[in-house]
Amino acid sequence: MGLTAKSTGSGAIDHGLHIERNPGAKDSPAERIIALAGNPNVGKSTVFNELTGLKQHTGNWPGKTVTNAQGRCTHHQIPYILVDIPGTYSLMAHSAEEEVARDFVCFGGPDAVVVVCDATCLERNMNLVLQTLEITNRVVVCVNLMDEARRKGIRVDTQRLSENLGVPVVGASARSGKGLAELMDEVEAVTSGQRECRPPRIRYLPAIEEALRILEPAVTGRLGGRLNGRWVSLQLLDCEETLKKTMTAYLGFSLWEDPAIKPKIAQAKERLREHDITDDRLKDILVSCLILRAEEVCMDAVSCGQSGYGRRDRKIDRVLTNKWTGIPLMILLLMAIFWLTITGANYPSELLSSGLFWVGDRLADFLQWAGAPAWLEGAVVDGAYRVLAWVTAVMLPPMAIFFPLFTLLEDAGYLPRVAFNLDKYFQKACACGKQALTMCMGFGCNAAGVVGCRIIDSPRERLIATITNSFVPCNGRFAPPHKGKQKGCRMLTPKKKPN
Ligand code: GDP
Repeated sequence: MGLTAKSTGSGAIDHGLHIERNPGAKDSPAERIIALAGNPNVGKSTVFNELTGLKQHTGNWPGKTVTNAQGRCTHHQIPYILVDIPGTYSLMAHSAEEEVARDFVCFGGPDAVVVVCDATCLERNMNLVLQTLEITNRVVVCVNLMDEARRKGIRVDTQRLSENLGVPVVGASARSGKGLAELMDEVEAVTSGQRECRPPRIRYLPAIEEALRILEPAVTGRLGGRLNGRWVSLQLLDCEETLKKTMTAYLGFSLWEDPAIKPKIAQAKERLREHDITDDRLKDILVSCLILRAEEVCMDAVSCGQSGYGRRDRKIDRVLTNKWTGIPLMILLLMAIFWLTITGANYPSELLSSGLFWVGDRLADFLQWAGAPAWLEGAVVDGAYRVLAWVTAVMLPPMAIFFPLFTLLEDAGYLPRVAFNLDKYFQKACACGKQALTMCMGFGCNAAGVVGCRIIDSPRERLIATITNSFVPCNGRFAPPHKGKQKGCRMLTPKKKPN
């Protein structure tokens, strides 16, 4: 196989969502639009960069790609526009990222969707693959991080996975460019119609299938092939407001108000109610079916060479998330971090303040020597310079200690466990467990804590987390261990120069 996927690198990063497929944005009508979807951190941007020659920033935190970036590449002389859509775990639109991703897959009119997955945790990634397959058949699955999986003794049978999913599956190690030419071969086959994709449909509970049978024929007829009738019928049963608006704008009419469809929706919902399926239960059932199907799909396609793989993680989890040991351990760990931050920061703070105030004294000497009026010296030295010196001496050292420690906890996978341990308590306060993470960040810096609130899906819970974050004392407000006269405030007093 010769590598012919050629990056032209000619594409410009285009930040913004193209809900309508816009042929004007294409250089030629032959260009094919490919959406790159995937969970956060699976190497989607790496695949995009390798194929387009662009340099989308790659990083290691969830939800990094928040807008659609666009680039071009050619493969076997066929030009492609690649659209890197935001990393999401699902297309059920609980967050802004999920909404942008779902809208592009549904209404952006891509010729194919490449779903990039992480080979080391394939089953978790299947949720997005299955949801994408509900919307469109033209899907190619790219199982990335195959090198990592091999290192961990995980084997992925891409052939079997492809049979189970009914769409092409390609193994890749995007960082070294391996498998990307094969990926583009499959994209070419799918977009040119040489490879027909026939993903098996997920079967829901009989009552839901019955409701779908009532809706689907009428809906499919009304859509005129523009969207998948079964998927749209499901949305009519369980619809979320933003999708309602976007779909109405896309179709040019409201399916919910359509005289042929409205009575069918009522009839289908009535059928669900007869089986005790409320709106909330319906959501849960749909998610459970997806999870069970993901398990089925991966069962015979993924195997672990090391029989003990994951056992160590589970043992650690049993201690860290145990209801008796989890919270005491969390408190001890956080106390250790605060102690290191507060005590440790004192030494560099003192060094910095004496250095910076020494420079301030020299600045004052210079102004006096130059005969500057007292008001100018006051404004420059006592006002601007000392404020800056204070803030730097007080804030910089604790931040430089706290955030790296926090990053270590995140990399070790401890922070999601904290969110899990506290979720129940936060829910009692009508908030969400993820707020624990943004509050912890708030101890470092409230601004970082507030910005971090974007990881919370629900707008109401995000607002609660944002507003309450300022009640967390950031490290600038910590009381230092008592060493001198000051208490309750980290302010360092400059050595006052005798007049
Ligand atoms: P995204 O959030 O899905 O866009 O993920 P990124 O492209 O930012 O990649 C996340 C991390 O995975 C980065 O540190 C990449 O260098 C790394 N990565 C991406 N592809 C591979 C791969 O094939 N093998 C390995 N070992 N790491 C990879």
